[in-house]
Amino acid sequence: MKRFLIAGNWKMNKTTAQAVHYVHELKAQKLTNPESVAIIAPFTQLEALKKELEGTGISLGAQNVHYEHSGAFTGEISVDMLKEIGVDYCVVGHSERREYFNETDETVNRKLKVLLEEGITPILCVGESLEVREKKQEQAFVCGQLGEAFAGIPQEYAEKVVIAYEPIWAIGTGHTATPEQAEEMCAFIRGMMQGLYDMSIGDKLIIQYGGSMKPGNAKELLEKTDINGGLIGGASLKVKDFAEIAKTAA
Ligand code: PGA
Repeated sequence: MKRFLIAGNWKMNKTTAQAVHYVHELKAQKLTNPESVAIIAPFTQLEALKKELEGTGISLGAQNVHYEHSGAFTGEISVDMLKEIGVDYCVVGHSERREYFNETDETVNRKLKVLLEEGITPILCVGESLEVREKKQEQAFVCGQLGEAFAGIPQEYAEKVVIAYEPIWAIGTGHTATPEQAEEMCAFIRGMMQGLYDMSIGDKLIIQYGGSMKPGNAKELLEKTDINGGLIGGASLKVKDFAEIAKTAA
């Protein structure tokens, strides 16, 4: 049976009080597949959300981490701090971080390693810009991002990483990739990972699509063979929309 992960990436939204209220409402939605659902929240909300999500089966994730365990890195958060709270996931390499916060393929690789060593599942984001797609170089681009991200990571760790294909031109724009475009790239990513490692990694990988996924288009995207869920920004901010997408994956 196909496995799913429906993760709501709240980005820089909600206060802790609003976040807790959201989870109250989410619980009332009676999700049938809570173990396939995660909330990816800002750092300041994580502790309160961890308590609020206890016993629900819904997982919790952070949006970023530093690759060093400690030190003089003002404003940063370490993997040990996340581990202490008990987060299950951490997003790495989101295009917004690559674009505005100097995230590089090298820091992505280091972050993956530190998370995997400490038992937190990375959600690795990859995806091309419109310019790259217009030149029909999207596969080569994503291939490059994956090769760098997984450099030096052995298969037993690599198979745990959730990969989110997020074409930059579809994020927050309302322009969703067509199910065919999304499937084509997710299948390509699976094949590419089988090339980097061995064939057995194919069945183990969770590959999400992200970019303007919403209740109206989730079904046709999630029906595709190689799409194991979604990383959902805008539509995850409203409980009803997020729950509807989650139910689509049940
Ligand atoms: P979006 O964001 O759903 O608002 O397009 C997705 C993401 O950036 O993870």
